[in-house]
Amino acid sequence: MKPYAVIGAGPMGLCTVRNLVKYGIPCVGFEIHSDVGGLWDIDSPTSTMYETAHLISSKKMTEFAEFPMDEGVAQFPHHSELREYFRAYAREFGLYERYEFNTEVVHCERDGDDWRITTRCNGDEQTRTFGGLLIANGTLHHPNLPQLPGEFAGEIMHSCDYRDPAIFEGKRVLLVGCGNSGADIAVDAVHRAKSVDISLRRGYYFLPKFIGGKPTDAVGGKVKLPRFIQQRISAALSRFMLGRPSQYGLPEPDYKMFESHPVINSLILHHIGHGDIQPQGDIAAIDGSTVTFKDGRSGDYDMILLATGYKLHYPFIDSAELNWSGYAPRLYLNVFHPDSDNLFLMGMVEAAGLGWEGRNEQAELVALYIRQLASGADSAQRFKATKHERASQRADGGMKYLELERMAYYVHKDTYLKALRSHAADLRRDLASRDTAQLISSAGAA
Ligand SMILES: Cc1cc2nc3c(=O)[nH]c(=O)nc-3n(C[C@H](O)[C@H](O)[C@H](O)COP(=O)(O)OP(=O)(O)OC[C@H]3O[C@@H](n4cnc5c(N)ncnc54)[C@H](O)[C@@H]3O)c2cc1C
Repeated sequence: MKPYAVIGAGPMGLCTVRNLVKYGIPCVGFEIHSDVGGLWDIDSPTSTMYETAHLISSKKMTEFAEFPMDEGVAQFPHHSELREYFRAYAREFGLYERYEFNTEVVHCERDGDDWRITTRCNGDEQTRTFGGLLIANGTLHHPNLPQLPGEFAGEIMHSCDYRDPAIFEGKRVLLVGCGNSGADIAVDAVHRAKSVDISLRRGYYFLPKFIGGKPTDAVGGKVKLPRFIQQRISAALSRFMLGRPSQYGLPEPDYKMFESHPVINSLILHHIGHGDIQPQGDIAAIDGSTVTFKDGRSGDYDMILLATGYKLHYPFIDSAELNWSGYAPRLYLNVFHPDSDNLFLMGMVEAAGLGWEGRNEQAELVALYIRQLASGADSAQRFKATKHERASQRADGGMKYLELERMAYYVHKDTYLKALRSHAADLRRDLASRDTAQLISSAGAA
């Protein structure tokens, strides 16, 4: 079998290579940075991490199942501990040897049934042929920059460039957007800035990080309730623990819990309630340092920080290869192209609580499919037909996600995992030879 190319050594790229190796598929990984960890390595030129960031989902709900974090690590570890975690994971499974570091993939194009891939390392370009391409370049790198209504005289920054709260020292700061990063950064600014306002276009659901001393995402996790009951219970819990957003001067969400990603932050409402952060509405106009909001109020600012999210970005490949529809490629289970069998978009998936283990299960299904396709197994032919038929279906479990760019590749975790697991079980059932089964068990033990 010709080697497969993997782009990226973040959590997704790492578990992709791990599974390819586990199923005996030759591969080479490429990473721009000099080390593994993706955006969790704040020193990587592609990282969008900030100094104060901690995991937002809890460690047990996020870690790779076969590689738990140390007991001594906090429930919501600092990003620097996660960098060490990924380095240890890569050492444990021999992944460093599989990567070419300081190497950017600059171009990928089809060459018959293969892929011609051009990489750049220290200014030198090299083009090689691979049997397949797995893209794990991350979804949170290319900033979504909204058109602002007017000229701002002060400093404008996107959260992708934010690193250190020292930049807020003595400034009048306007945060735009209140997703998880926006809320974190607003809280950072409180301790440095002269004033902090936050502009929200729509209502958000808020959840605290802990309930009864346990991480919120781990509460009741073992009990599988129907989706609408989960939504109601979580909304009621949020109201019970924190109250309604309008009690803090924030807009009420006009959608149900989990139809957009909730904000998991124990401090933002606390600071709004203490007057440290002033909520504002959507921006209507900007003139010099004055920002006028849609409700007619206005304020003067030195800095606008746009926490307005990210766009999917695959600059090294013709977008026609990715079966785009609207804001995102339309692929079966967000990974599998309806027709191509050697192109996989890894990690283009978001869901409340999917974690890195959910991404690992995705990678295992891909590796199983490649393995079984090569072995001529019937199960691979069944899967091939399924992915062709169902590429346009979304694993939303009936959830009506908001029609937003950042929600375009959102899935319902339980629905998504159930589909991954049932396909993986089918592909595993007729693993072709004893050799392959042996290979897997010895790789698993390695
Ligand atoms: C502040 C913050 C907090 C977060 N908190 C959580 C959380 O609590 N829980 C959670 O599950 N997720 C969280 N996330 C989401 C995060 O995206 C995932 O945890 C995870 O990092 C995604 O892994 P990835 O490998 O897909 O992407 P990334 O970690 O982004 O890695 C992609 C890698 O690809 C490399 N690359 C890109 N292009 C090329 C190229 N052309 N050639 C070679 N290499 C390339 C990059 O250098 C990078 O190393 C958070 C994100 C941020 C920014």
